[in-house]
Parts: sequence; structure tokens; C-alpha cells
Amino acid sequence: MTIEITLLGTGSPLPDPERAGPSTLVRAGGKTFLFDAGRGVGLRLAAAGAAWSLLDAVLLTHLHSDHITDLNDAITGRWVTSLAPNPLPIIGPGNTGIVVDGILAMLGPDISYRIAHHEDMTEGPQPVVTETAGGVVYDDREADVRIIAAPTDHKPVEPTVGFRIEHAGAAVVIGGDGVPCAGLDELCAGADAYVQTVLREDLVSMIPIQRFLDTIDYHSTVRQAGETAAKAGVRTLVLTHQVPTPAPGSEAEWVAQAAEVFDGEIVFGTDLTVVTV
Ligand SMILES: [Zn+2]
Ligand SMILES: [Zn+2]
Repeated sequence: MTIEITLLGTGSPLPDPERAGPSTLVRAGGKTFLFDAGRGVGLRLAAAGAAWSLLDAVLLTHLHSDHITDLNDAITGRWVTSLAPNPLPIIGPGNTGIVVDGILAMLGPDISYRIAHHEDMTEGPQPVVTETAGGVVYDDREADVRIIAAPTDHKPVEPTVGFRIEHAGAAVVIGGDGVPCAGLDELCAGADAYVQTVLREDLVSMIPIQRFLDTIDYHSTVRQAGETAAKAGVRTLVLTHQVPTPAPGSEAEWVAQAAEVFDGEIVFGTDLTVVTV
């Protein structure tokens, strides 16, 4: 095993009892990274045998609410389950600092209760935020783990980034939401696995509600995800955060749309799906 991907949450913004909000765990070289922190991520993190206190970083593709609803849980969970100061690195696009500051403000009363109650707690959570527009965001030579960010296209949501995790000659891409673009092509070049949010245009376009129809223009369709994967020579395409919520038994239909343009392996993601490259 070189890099292990666990889809923690594959759901859309609409609550689904079977699917947590968007979040993906990546383990490589003894390091553990959480990408996005959607609804219920803490439950799935526990199911995957991971812990807040042991994460090496939380990385955010963008600041849409469904991707950060439980970032507060990550910040509090890290703080209360670490017995010594253990700052949580949070890497994300521009404005990540504003969001984290807002979460810390929201947690203000809770932080004061715990500091007052526990003698060994003298300060609140100390997340360390790094904002990136692209480039190397993590580099551990000893563990041979490198993470590279690149801008993605999820307009009008801006800025947004995708990530490429490299370890021992293998590479995995977390594409996030968004449509095909040069940044994504760059990240995906020759990758072993590419995890992409996908939308079924044929289904969404049948729903006569403008607010829903609006989602078509800024998400990759299943076919577009397949096109990006094919163009970049990706080995395995992983479909996640599917919109709309897939009907039971419809998995093959989703896979077939990507397979029209992509010859490689296609994985239809559900919560706790594991892909190892
Ligand atoms: Zn989004
Ligand atoms: Zn999303």
C-alpha cells in the first residue's frame, strides 16, 4: 500500500441518512490528511479508525458551507482530545482565515467554559491557517509525502483549489467541486487516482427549479470527470459527492456515463469506500 483514500462523506448538501457531507481521508507514509469537513465527518473519521488528534493537516478545497459545516468539530475535537498543545494545520484557499476566525468566535463561550473547568487547559484551540493559491503546501522529505495545490474552476465560488498528494511514486488527486480546467489537468497528469465531485446533468436538468438548475454550470458532470481523467492518463476515477442523491441501484448508470469517455477503472463512491493505490 502506498496511498490509501477513504471517502468519509459522499453526500450532497441535502441531508441523507446514508451519506455524510463531503470529506475524504488520505493516508500516506504514516501521515493522515483530511480533505474538507462536511456534515458528520467526525462520525466517519471514527469509523475509519482515525482521530482528530492525529491528523497531520486539514485541507479545504473551497469554502462552500457543505464542505466546512463540521470544521468547528475538527477544531474543537483536536483541542479537547490532545493532552498537550497540538495546533491543527488548516490549509485552504483565500478567505480560509476569515472562516476559521469566525468559527473561533462562535466557539468563544465553549472555549471559556473548558478553560475555566480544566486546570490543565490554559489556552483555546490554536489552528494554524495557511492560505494557498497553488504550489507545494506540504512537504515531508522523511515521510516522502508532498501535497501540491492548484487553482480550480468552481465560479462564481472563488478562490478554490484542488490537491495532489504524492508518495513513493504514487499520486492521488482531490479535485473538489468545479468544472474541467487547466489547474485540474495539471494536478491529474498521470495520477493513480482522481477523486471528483460529479453531477448528473441528465437528472438535474429534469428538475424544474432554477436554484437546482443553477448547480449544473459549476460542477463537473460525470462525463466531464471522465474526460478530465482520460486526458490526464489517470488510472482510477473515483466518483464522489454525487448530485443529485443517487437512486438505489443506479450506480452502474453513473459509472457508464464516465465509461463512455474513460477506459480506466471507475469507482462509484459511497461513505467509507476505500481506494488504495
Ligand atoms: Zn462547492
Ligand atoms: Zn459541494
